[in-house]
Amino acid sequence: MELYKGKPVADRIREEIKEKVGEYEKKGIRPQLAILRVGQNPEDIAYEQRVLKNCQTCGILAQVRECPENTTTEEFLVILQECNSNREIHGILIFRPLPRHMDSEKISLLVAPEKDSDCMNPQNLNKLFLGDTEGILPCTPEAVRELLLHYTGSLVGRNVVIVNRSLVLGKPLAMLLLEENATVTICHSKTKDLAEITKKADVVVTGVGRAGYFGKEYFGEHSVVMDVGINEKEGGICGDVDMDAVSGQIKGISPVPGGVGAVTSMLLLRNVLRGIKEA
Ligand code: NAP
Repeated sequence: MELYKGKPVADRIREEIKEKVGEYEKKGIRPQLAILRVGQNPEDIAYEQRVLKNCQTCGILAQVRECPENTTTEEFLVILQECNSNREIHGILIFRPLPRHMDSEKISLLVAPEKDSDCMNPQNLNKLFLGDTEGILPCTPEAVRELLLHYTGSLVGRNVVIVNRSLVLGKPLAMLLLEENATVTICHSKTKDLAEITKKADVVVTGVGRAGYFGKEYFGEHSVVMDVGINEKEGGICGDVDMDAVSGQIKGISPVPGGVGAVTSMLLLRNVLRGIKEA
């Protein structure tokens, strides 16, 4: 059974980013990401540290704007507008979910689309749904596509089943894979006979958010599995697939940790570069 690790793909993307950053530097442009965080959620801070480290490795500047937990939508929008209009900032990352008292929808709509590194603004999803894959793309679905193309090659005509219909994963991923000419099926919690559907697929993407939910009855020897689930387990994380049960029974799987997630954070930085407008 093959392990589709994220590292080689993340390494390649990192090198591409570094090369581009070098080209921009020669033109006097220093890419910069603004991170807007409300409160001090430890998971947000841990992710922020990883993003800052990646920025440093790639030569991208980063600034963190930390806002108190009780920040109002209006106060937050002032900071966001400052980032939108600052020509030296090319990407914006806002940690989600925002506190309940804040109007997330209003905030999403006001992130400048070209600086929307985390693909929050529905305008960027609209573009993807219209078939434009050149602009800002949502990082997790794009990471799944990158991993699949790297490890399994062309997706033309392949049957892909995605077990997730959320806007962060299943729906945009279906659009990306349709652009690769795959045949895509989306499943969810109301799907009947899920195992019958997944077993027949060439590729199964799992994103239900339940530790070890998928045992070997969901797959066949030919199955390529992309495990996107992130679940807490004994002080660490694990995916949606029961690794012990499927080990040796399927063609390959992206591990958790070390699979899709390892690529996602690099794609955030690629989106920052997509926010650069050359005069
Ligand atoms: P979500 O909005 O809760 O979506 C879960 C999806 O799974 C829904 O479509 C749900 O169906 C479906 N589902 C739940 N139980 C099911 C079952 N028993 N059988 C079939 N389908 C079932 O979660 P999300 O935000 O999309 O995230 C999904 C997972 O991906 C989470 O574990 C999250 O942590 C992880 N994630 C990973 C990354 C990464 O970089 N690797 C990034 C983002 C998220 P309904 O629509 O019918 O409820």
